[in-house]
Amino acid sequence: MKELLELNHKTWEIYEDAKENLKMIFEELDEICEYNSLKVMNAFFENQISESHFAITTGYGYNDIGREAVEKVYASIFKAESALVRSQFISGSHALAKTLFGLLRPNDTLLSITGLPYDTLHEVIGIRENESSLKSFGVKYEQIDLIENDFDYEKIENFLTNHEVKVIEIQRSRGYSNRSSIDLEKCEKAIQLIKKVSPKTIVMVDNCYCEFVTKKEPIEIGADVVVGSLIKNLGGGLAPNGGYVVGKRNLIKLVAEALNLPGEGLDVGPSLGANKTFLEGIFFAPSVVRDALKTSILASYMLESLGYLVDPSPFEKRVDIVERIEFNQKEDLISYCEGIQEGSPIDSFVKPIPTDMPGYEDEVIMAAGAFTQGSSIELSCDGPIRPPYYAYQQGGLTFDTAKIGVLKAVNKIIERKEL
Ligand SMILES: *Cc1c(COP(=O)(O)O)cnc(C)c1O
Repeated sequence: MKELLELNHKTWEIYEDAKENLKMIFEELDEICEYNSLKVMNAFFENQISESHFAITTGYGYNDIGREAVEKVYASIFKAESALVRSQFISGSHALAKTLFGLLRPNDTLLSITGLPYDTLHEVIGIRENESSLKSFGVKYEQIDLIENDFDYEKIENFLTNHEVKVIEIQRSRGYSNRSSIDLEKCEKAIQLIKKVSPKTIVMVDNCYCEFVTKKEPIEIGADVVVGSLIKNLGGGLAPNGGYVVGKRNLIKLVAEALNLPGEGLDVGPSLGANKTFLEGIFFAPSVVRDALKTSILASYMLESLGYLVDPSPFEKRVDIVERIEFNQKEDLISYCEGIQEGSPIDSFVKPIPTDMPGYEDEVIMAAGAFTQGSSIELSCDGPIRPPYYAYQQGGLTFDTAKIGVLKAVNKIIERKEL
């Protein structure tokens, strides 16, 4: 591999060192993968998945037994009463938006207790003005920031004692913010507090990037509704698009009616051939997530060895599949992204360049050579061109292919420095 990839001596040395030292942590990941694979297989057994579920429906999609089977499998895996898993959701952002529109009514309050929500929700909520936002329908929004990467339990308790809150949003993964991702133990503590002070408040968890990273999912620690993307972890790299919402039966019904139409929620929606891909995707998902984690940990280890600040550090407990690297220099960030692009299966010959992007104040560089557009369960890396030059790396469908991207990227940095 060293010769074929034309890696220099130092890159190879750090890689050999990483392989040796990461053995134990990789074994732990194998164990989590084994557990989650069993969860998936049990869901397939319980729901008697068969070839008939792969049939294509069109039009209204009445009596689509495959679609119903997909949703039962998701409900089993999440230990949820009900599930809505659809290709009519474009992606995770769309599923989150429809969930909020389904659950909130004029004069209701939405409260985020993990600070500013993910960028794509700003116009949905009305944090950034938009004439179609929840705010334009009279839904109020409040926010409590994290303190030292944990919930502000005191503020949450005070707020809930003095205000009526319809929906609380918890976002586990950090997105592009500077906080850390929030583990389920902390979420559990927060949800217990919420349920004690304000039992009627609906707790919604944005679970993007976190599925199958650990053995538990948010319903098991008390969440009412959990939302995520199928072009991330659970699509297993196979789902061409889609999103999921799982949780309490009455709430899933509301979300389905917001997606489709009042009176025709869960019962309509042609699967248009997606059922087989969704089932096969979730079948692969535990091992895809494991390999994405191995890829992030390898990058974390190699870049830390080179002296960069990485978060999480290689041996830290992980909540999601995202790795953040602080490059300190624009040139290093760009070289690294170029290397990731060169090591991607699609468009390896293309050179990513920083450009202006709608919704961002600074130029952004994005490296992604994916089979599915915008799929971030496939190896990708991006970052805004501003100090301290953070890169966010995520994904990798198989460790053996994705590590080629990481090796090429690390090699680029080392070679540039030696010039
Ligand atoms: C990626 C992400 C989303 C949006 O998912 P898409 O499928 O890209 O629309 C929402 N929330 C968080 C925390 C994310 O990481």
